Amino acid sequence: MRSTPVPLTLLGSAADPATEKGVECPGDLPAPSDPDLVERARAARAALGSRAFVLGHHYQRDEVIAFADVTGDSFRLAQQAAARPDAEFIIFCGVHFMAESADILTTPQQQVVLPDLAAGCSMADMAAIGQVEEAWEVLTDAGLAESTIPVTYMNSSAAIKAFTGRHGGTVCTSSNARRALDWAFAHGERVLFLPDQHLGRNTAVRELGLSLDDCAVFDPRLPGGGVSASALAAARMVLWRGHCSVHGRFTQKSVSEVRERLPGVQVLVHPECTHEVVTAADLVGSTEFIIRTVNAAPAGSVWAIGTELNLVKRLAQEHPEQTIVFLDRAVCFCSTMNRIDLPHLVWAMENLAAGTLVNRIEVDGEVARWARIALDRMLELPG
Ligand code: SF4
Repeated sequence: MRSTPVPLTLLGSAADPATEKGVECPGDLPAPSDPDLVERARAARAALGSRAFVLGHHYQRDEVIAFADVTGDSFRLAQQAAARPDAEFIIFCGVHFMAESADILTTPQQQVVLPDLAAGCSMADMAAIGQVEEAWEVLTDAGLAESTIPVTYMNSSAAIKAFTGRHGGTVCTSSNARRALDWAFAHGERVLFLPDQHLGRNTAVRELGLSLDDCAVFDPRLPGGGVSASALAAARMVLWRGHCSVHGRFTQKSVSEVRERLPGVQVLVHPECTHEVVTAADLVGSTEFIIRTVNAAPAGSVWAIGTELNLVKRLAQEHPEQTIVFLDRAVCFCSTMNRIDLPHLVWAMENLAAGTLVNRIEVDGEVARWARIALDRMLELPG
């Protein structure tokens, strides 16, 4: 098997249309130091009125969340976009794959805008469609493709979602990964899980009772994925070697250090963290689960939270009656989520208000059709 090289591209330095990397963002941005920035944002938002609907992912900066009509995780935001067919513009403050999903789920008349085209996702970039098609060839050559169901995490490009749609698979979120895997195992013997190996492994082992030995890791950079045909045949979960560059940085040591520092602390982490971290934590769940858990906790609760820093900081501000710390002081913001800042949002809204459509995210018709099939299968998963 060939192994497709994925070129390194610096954010904002060049365009790589096959991935979400490094897309240049055009335009004359307002300076972040502009003292009128908030006022300009208010004026542009008011000028757009009900023609625009602004979505803000939980990992966005506070300055952006302040202008969001609704906040949520990627799935909730896509649903919210679909529920607003009257809005001409869906301004998506999140990352590229989320805007793609919103475009797939909204009407052709609606235009989805990503305020900074360089807001990609490094995890989504770890599974390029050419690599996934080559991996499928490997499974086909081993006589395993027919008994394998591809399942992709929401955090993947539209092309990967379309791939799962074409091959009888589905999409999942961190909230419904268990239900998606139950569904997949009812339809096949093994799952090809894309692109986050940690969510796949954690769900399979913690929630389905599979063992670590049931999981094989497919590395797209190695010939044949670096795994033998017999190991693929024996695996129940074939895990794509991808990860989140934020959640993947928390370590078991982060957990033991915070336990020493804060006696009585409860460690609450996202399932994109490694299996070791998840095993060492007290509670594991999606972004929405983390928010619900903290919102429901009594005063005096002590939390160390392993997810994106903007969200952890916001939870700490909203709950001064609790002690909420970030799980690891050395882990930083998601750099691509943080690409969307107030200057980019103002720039996008002012252009739209002036009649200039900027940074539209539009998924190709055939890709959108198959991705929609995969997304619809997810929406139909039994509750
Ligand atoms: S937090 Fe991780 S998965 Fe989410 S957008 Fe950033 S890199 Fe991607």
